[in-house]
Amino acid sequence: MFWLEIAYLIGSLSFILGLKMLSNPDTAKRGNLYAGIGMGIAILGTILLHHNSEGQSIGNISWILLAMAVGTVIGYLLAMKVKMTAMPQMVSLFNGMGGACAAIISIVEYHGHHSQDFWLILVIYLGLVIGSISFAGSMVAYGKLDDRIKDIRANWLRILNLVILAVIVILVVMGVTDPGNSMFMWATLILALVYGVFFVMPIGGADMPVVISLLNSFTGMAAAFGGFLYSNQVMLTGGILVGSAGTILTILMCTAMNRSLLSVLVGSFGGGGTSGPRELGEQSVREIQGTDAAILCAYARRVAIIPGYGLAVAQAQHICHEFERILEEKGVEVYYAIHPVAGRMPGHMNVLLAEADVPYPKLLEMEEANDLMPQTDVAIIIGANDVVNPAAETDPGSPIYGMPIIQVTKADNVIVMKRSMGKGYAGIENELFFAPKTRMLFGDAKQSLSNLVSELKQI
Ligand code: NDP
Repeated sequence: MFWLEIAYLIGSLSFILGLKMLSNPDTAKRGNLYAGIGMGIAILGTILLHHNSEGQSIGNISWILLAMAVGTVIGYLLAMKVKMTAMPQMVSLFNGMGGACAAIISIVEYHGHHSQDFWLILVIYLGLVIGSISFAGSMVAYGKLDDRIKDIRANWLRILNLVILAVIVILVVMGVTDPGNSMFMWATLILALVYGVFFVMPIGGADMPVVISLLNSFTGMAAAFGGFLYSNQVMLTGGILVGSAGTILTILMCTAMNRSLLSVLVGSFGGGGTSGPRELGEQSVREIQGTDAAILCAYARRVAIIPGYGLAVAQAQHICHEFERILEEKGVEVYYAIHPVAGRMPGHMNVLLAEADVPYPKLLEMEEANDLMPQTDVAIIIGANDVVNPAAETDPGSPIYGMPIIQVTKADNVIVMKRSMGKGYAGIENELFFAPKTRMLFGDAKQSLSNLVSELKQI
């Protein structure tokens, strides 16, 4: 048992160290590796060293190793195959698997503990509810991120969600007070799965990032309940770390998006999308060609780059960094304005730009960037749409209403790089494209930036 405790201690410490290292792009990769090694040590330690109260080892080792081998192969193939732009979907999928594991642990342990003490049964029910919600919710989030599932925005769904939540609470109370009656456990499982689906269903537009981090924290909490059940420190530590980091991220996201956590929990976000997709009629846009855009930037004093999901789609981060470097060589001050939900996962733009070695101090948070915008000559939007959409400030019926945006119209000139007049994630029109200051530079972001770089080299 001594060596098992040591293995758990090493596992716990490497999780903490790994998490700490993840907070800096330079150390993040190593941090991930350390946490993975820690997890490996904890798993192997449990398989080889764990003994129950009668001194028996865990048994079924060949089955366990076979399952691990199958899981490892599937995980490896998925991770190797996935495109960078599909990473958020994959994260949602893996998060859902964590929730499912926690729920399965609860089901298995229910049969071992149903005549035992109140606290164990309560923890089993909590793990079951939170794990199932996380699993079902993450699967819907996966579908939405992958554009397979559309939002269902209906008030009845929000009311139904509250009713289901209330019934789940009642079932848990009944199940805990009557632990021998497995009917309560199965009913709780089914309703928690239904709630997970219904609670993510109406959420869309600007609100998905909050839900994704919330589901993440749910999985962490559910795993921590599992750790509590097994008196397993490493599972407890890992679960608490994920749960608390996810909760902090959720709160930060809520603050950044001007939403309350309660409105997340009942799935009643945003302006409700009552105004629906807003058609902007026959308005016309003004285009700009690469040569003119390059001249405008080369003679500017200060240029802001506003990256969005399209930068990730185009994989244009490296050429973007080169564009920024050439401008700086010409004496132009360049900064990046980073919106907290730009892209498709929290920190997406930071990760993307760090990959291209863009110096971290150049990435300004939204508030700081908005303060600097009135003294900015050119704001270049690269594949961003929702995060610069003025409807978030002006249209109370818009699904993104209330979300703070990067206020590019405060700059003297606005250039928008995108391929077409296509909409962003929230599926709404963007009046910015028709604004007098705005000029559109149509084309794939990587191609447009390459053209700009060649033009700049000739100026
Ligand atoms: P958007 O999804 O609003 O817009 C991206 C734009 O990029 C599109 O309008 C598209 O226009 C353009 N684009 C796509 N491919 C290319 C390309 N190859 N070259 C040039 N442009 C391209 O992105 P934002 O970053 O502005 O906003 C993020 C949205 O995603 C928000 O609504 C946010 O709530 C949501 N979200 C964010 C999550 C997060 O955690 N960050 C998670 C889930 C959702 P076109 O087709 O015309 O080129």
